[in-house]
Amino acid sequence: MDFSISEEQKLFKQSVTEFARNEIQPGATERDAEARFDRDVWDKAAEFGLMGLPFPEELGGSDASVFDTCLAGEALGYGSADMGFCLSWGAHVAIGGVPIWQLGNDEQQKKYIPRIASGEWIAGLGLTEPEAGSDAAGIKTTAEKKDGYYVLNGTKTFITNGQVGNVFVVLAVTDKEKGPGGISGFIVEKDFPGFSVGNEIHKMGHRSSPTSELIFDNCEVPAENLLGVENEGFMGVALTTLEWERSVLLAAGVGGMELQLEQCIDYAKERHQFGRPIASFQAMQFKLADLKVWLETSRLIVYKVAWNKDQGIMDPMLASIAKLFVSEVGVQAADQATQVFGGYGYTKDYPIERSIRDAKLGTLGGGTSEIQRWIIGRLLIGK
Ligand SMILES: Cc1cc2nc3c(=O)[nH]c(=O)nc-3n(C[C@H](O)[C@H](O)[C@H](O)COP(=O)(O)OP(=O)(O)OC[C@H]3O[C@@H](n4cnc5c(N)ncnc54)[C@H](O)[C@@H]3O)c2cc1C
Repeated sequence: MDFSISEEQKLFKQSVTEFARNEIQPGATERDAEARFDRDVWDKAAEFGLMGLPFPEELGGSDASVFDTCLAGEALGYGSADMGFCLSWGAHVAIGGVPIWQLGNDEQQKKYIPRIASGEWIAGLGLTEPEAGSDAAGIKTTAEKKDGYYVLNGTKTFITNGQVGNVFVVLAVTDKEKGPGGISGFIVEKDFPGFSVGNEIHKMGHRSSPTSELIFDNCEVPAENLLGVENEGFMGVALTTLEWERSVLLAAGVGGMELQLEQCIDYAKERHQFGRPIASFQAMQFKLADLKVWLETSRLIVYKVAWNKDQGIMDPMLASIAKLFVSEVGVQAADQATQVFGGYGYTKDYPIERSIRDAKLGTLGGGTSEIQRWIIGRLLIGK
């Protein structure tokens, strides 16, 4: 195992950081305040090549490894100061695009991946429902096969990119008797009859990433848009996206933690109290030390999940450990960073207040901390 980064990877990471700093970071505060997704920023990132990183070159992608896609996520989190953008990007690539690429047949790949890779079409994943969050296999949306179509009925909620997405991987029940083994995946375009975007979800953080309900009212999905094998969608999509989500999306958070640490060091050196910089107080140095420890351990664990995935090693325990650890220390880090800034950390004049709002999503979205502990605990006792 070698986690050292080659010169080429360093240059790649640096180029994404510079792009993010120059093209995404300006306006990030305003987009957060206005809860506004900016299509121009998206298009610039697409032009830069960020939307198709992991997909094969023949489908318009860059053939990047999971590890390199993570480096891009980390650089985006660090350079952009816009975790909302990172969330929309991560959902598009890792949980919208990846299942179509990995589970889709030739026609589906050729039809959808080039549009997703170019960023022309925005992708997302529709799994969660009002009554089925942690209990994701308890979804109620149905898909009934009729005359060359599957007719979908139900409501999805909390869907990242909901209002701006062109195509979604949607999970629906095809056999009520079979529980998780009766759920199938579908590729649903926003223009399919019976599809509509429901209520917008107003969030405390990641505000430049749009989140909404998706409504399926006798939505006609052509039979050829079944993704993978009928009734195998739940495990198929879960297994395909798990490590992608738990490396690429977490990597952006690691980048955000690095930016936050630098902001804290700068502030602690500039801010004077009792006639000296607050950085000279050991209590402040301890906070900076904790931020550094959380950053480096988070980075290592995310790299390991990505490395595993690139080697074809399935390790759901490690993926859950990464999700739990990085998101929980992310919240603690944001809290301690706010403390370094004192009262100013609580104001809109400094960017730190945003990090505390953004960090909290980690312990909730994509499987809560309790669910990660549950998975780890069950694996420990062999269940
Ligand atoms: C900003 C945002 C973006 C999201 N994006 C997407 C997306 O793109 N696509 C998508 O499909 N979903 C998305 N989600 C949904 C997300 O994955 C769910 O919110 C998450 O899985 C938790 O479900 P829930 O909110 O219904 O909470 P609930 O499941 O209702 O949980 C409430 C509380 O009960 C606890 N709990 C539940 N069951 C157990 C148990 N067995 N043991 C112990 N504790 C338990 C939970 O840990 C939590 O503390 C997003 C959510 C957010 C907030």
